[in-house]
Amino acid sequence: MGSNSVPGWRGLNVGVIGGGIGGMSVAIALRRAGHQVTIYEKSDFAGEVGASVSCAANGTRWLHEWQVDVAKGDPVILKQLINRDWKTGEPVSVYDLADYEEKWGYVYNMFHRQYMHAMLKDSALEDQGKGRPAKLLVNHKCKEIDIHSGKVTFDNGVTVQHDLVVGADGIGSAVRGAIGIHPQKRPSEQSCLHANVTTEEAVRLGLVDYSQNSALEYWGGQEGKWDKIVLSPCNDGKLLSYYCFFPREQGDFANQTWGGADLPTEDLLRPYPELDRQVFKHLTIGKEIRPWRLWIHDPYPYIAKGNVCLLGDAGHPMMPHQSQGACMAIEDAAALGIIFDEDHFKGDIGEALAVYNQIRLPRATRVQAAASKAAYNINERIGFSVNKSISTYKVEDPKKILTIEEMNSYDMYKDIDEQLAKRRGTAYTEKYLNGLPIGLELPNGVVVGA
Ligand SMILES: Cc1cc2nc3c(=O)[nH]c(=O)nc-3n(C[C@H](O)[C@H](O)[C@H](O)COP(=O)(O)OP(=O)(O)OC[C@H]3O[C@@H](n4cnc5c(N)ncnc54)[C@H](O)[C@@H]3O)c2cc1C
Repeated sequence: MGSNSVPGWRGLNVGVIGGGIGGMSVAIALRRAGHQVTIYEKSDFAGEVGASVSCAANGTRWLHEWQVDVAKGDPVILKQLINRDWKTGEPVSVYDLADYEEKWGYVYNMFHRQYMHAMLKDSALEDQGKGRPAKLLVNHKCKEIDIHSGKVTFDNGVTVQHDLVVGADGIGSAVRGAIGIHPQKRPSEQSCLHANVTTEEAVRLGLVDYSQNSALEYWGGQEGKWDKIVLSPCNDGKLLSYYCFFPREQGDFANQTWGGADLPTEDLLRPYPELDRQVFKHLTIGKEIRPWRLWIHDPYPYIAKGNVCLLGDAGHPMMPHQSQGACMAIEDAAALGIIFDEDHFKGDIGEALAVYNQIRLPRATRVQAAASKAAYNINERIGFSVNKSISTYKVEDPKKILTIEEMNSYDMYKDIDEQLAKRRGTAYTEKYLNGLPIGLELPNGVVVGA
């Protein structure tokens, strides 16, 4: 690789457990930082599901920094967040994203999960691009890890050894147990069914063409109720991905997994006798109806130990209500890419993972907490959280609302430099605190550094 800016830098042999969105992202970030990466995935990806995944500017910026071919993800660029009345469908709260790119430098993408995954996989594995291509080994289910030696054992009997092991193995992580975290998870009070509707079929049947809005649209979510419909258009507007939430007592899918048979349409429609008929009609033509398990995990005390760290849902599984799960996995990957690059890594994996733990845990767990609140109160959702003039606006603590400003003003390089300086006892002179500019007044009234 190029000339090393810090003495002691060395290329690592990294094992990534899990080849999902986070695993592919970290493979990109670490290959670009000069390391040899092998990804071990338990499945062969045949059961990947068709559903949308959003990627706000705080995730999109890394895709561009890594020169990922974003067009391969066939995204819809979001122009609005719209919250509609449950019964009439009339807009209640709207957050306009017209100046979003101008303000934050990057767009708010809505990808199809499979397209996004393929886009990231290509970037991780293909010859072109900075660094050496990562290797992918499918049908490798991680069973055990020795966190000090980096020895990993798989279900198929294969054993490997790596300098650094990244656990990107999702919400049911096996790596998490290996670093001593055994979460007390509990099922959410809410259930979720997902359904796909094609715009072509909706239009052919004379239904509303929601794709025209290029918006992430929500029905309900106000007044402490668990009922909510989330519509996200993807595949350039050709596919409408519906997440349909309702109280768990009306249907408990907590123990179901993706990959089972599709559920009947009646299961999807039953909880919604009063829902706006326009969107209800869309649900009547919903296909691939599948439950999405909702388990609540409280924040973990740490996400790194020995030569092993957690990333994405393995380290901070969150409710889907801030649409930040994928972005947080991408940010984790970006952090490792910077911490282990030639400007920052001095060869001490312990120091590097301590900084990773220190910068990622507070930010990801703040989003995790905000996602739990937004489950029953859409006014807590980033964007809507600043629409204070609407009649139903109410939040738990106005000083704690999460905002687009906080998410997108964050400078990860500065945060890493500050934490490394503290550890190394060197001076840090930038006017930033934990990655945010000192003096910045956030919409919740908090002034950074005050
Ligand atoms: C249907 C659906 C829709 C979603 N929509 C959104 C959205 O709109 N916005 C958003 O931000 N987030 C969304 N999310 C959440 C988001 O996808 C996750 O937060 C994000 O994918 C986290 O990435 P990850 O790599 O941590 O986990 P995953 O993408 O789940 O990847 C984990 C991978 O690890 C593999 N694995 C598991 N165990 C092992 C093992 N023992 N050994 C080897 N491999 C293993 C799995 O097979 C999988 O490939 C959605 C999730 C789902 C399921």
